[in-house]
Amino acid sequence: MITPLEQTVLDCINDDELIGWVQALTRIPSVWKPELGIGEEAAARWVQARCQEMGLSTAFEFVQPGRPNVIAVYSPPVPPQLGRERKRLMFEGHTDVVTEGDPSKWTDPPFSATIRNGRIYGRGANDMKAGVCCALMATKAIAQSGVRLDGDILLGIVCDEEGRMIGIKHFVEQGWADQVTACIVCEPEENHLCIEQKGVMWVKLLIRGVMSHGAMPLTGVNTAYPMARFLTMAQALEEREIVRHPASPFLGRPSITPTILMSPVRGGGEPQNNVMPGATECTLDIRLIPGQDPDWIATQLEKMAAAACAIDPRLSYDFQVIEVRHATRTDREHPVVTTLASAFTDLTGQAPIYGGVPGSTDGTILNARKGIPIVTCGPGDIYIPHHIDEWVSIDEIKTAARMYVLAAMRYLGASAR
Ligand SMILES: [Zn+2]
Repeated sequence: MITPLEQTVLDCINDDELIGWVQALTRIPSVWKPELGIGEEAAARWVQARCQEMGLSTAFEFVQPGRPNVIAVYSPPVPPQLGRERKRLMFEGHTDVVTEGDPSKWTDPPFSATIRNGRIYGRGANDMKAGVCCALMATKAIAQSGVRLDGDILLGIVCDEEGRMIGIKHFVEQGWADQVTACIVCEPEENHLCIEQKGVMWVKLLIRGVMSHGAMPLTGVNTAYPMARFLTMAQALEEREIVRHPASPFLGRPSITPTILMSPVRGGGEPQNNVMPGATECTLDIRLIPGQDPDWIATQLEKMAAAACAIDPRLSYDFQVIEVRHATRTDREHPVVTTLASAFTDLTGQAPIYGGVPGSTDGTILNARKGIPIVTCGPGDIYIPHHIDEWVSIDEIKTAARMYVLAAMRYLGASAR
């Protein structure tokens, strides 16, 4: 049930302004163009200006030239008895968008933010400028309302989510995540409550032997057969992991998938029918569900590489873990989840819909490095990010901004001033 106090804050949400914000931010193209050094700065300046207008203290930190993070804190004075257990709720978003591709394929110009059929169209409108604006509007409504929160709101609007996630990594390294007690990742999830996210690990194995004539293979050392043995063992490991870790209702089964298999390797010359290459390389794309231990899996795979190469002392290998992003799971009973769930029900009259994120988000970094409970929940169709004619539903935007208000008030605690 929405309380009168909550209603006073909800009444401070200006939907026309909110929709105008989503359009304005979408109209600032923030595709990273390394050759020009142009990225998210203009979009980040726009976000910073909104935060300053509502009186928040802001920080603007360049992660690399053209690629800044914006951080803003709403920190109301709190009675001293609450000082020790002060909570800090973070709303997380990113300012970068993926390329629009061929503009002529779009119905409207990709950065026009055209409104049709209750939708805003544009690259980044869905992923995730709408979510960013909902977090801004929720904070503004709370700040304007005169209602006092018993904790802080931190807005972390970072660069480079679509690439190597240097924005959120920098944010964590600068200490911004240290006092955060929970985070709502405002990515497009149709306002579903995504409490699990798949993890990913990429590993690369290079096996080196000795190149030779195909007619005289014994004068060299073949690397294809040891790689085949390694891959058979990797597949058996996948089967064991599937048995050991029951499928998640939201994410399905774990997987170990060879995605690149090369022999000869790059720089190893043109493939020829009668040449036995001197090396074979393989990349595994490993998708993790909560409960799996990526370090353990990497150790097992390295042992398999050693075993596969043990048959000939002239074989050698390089085993490399290129990237690890842990799977995340937040308990359904965690207050950041229950408050969002009750907000959704109170606003829509429907039961909350729980879900999982098949890829990773900036929230993965917050959870893996700082143990912050995260829930991914924001406006926008789940499947439309990165598509031509990307769009976001105006109704979902309005609901998300209100969900964020109620979740912040209920999670942090609120009272009349
Ligand atoms: Zn995104």
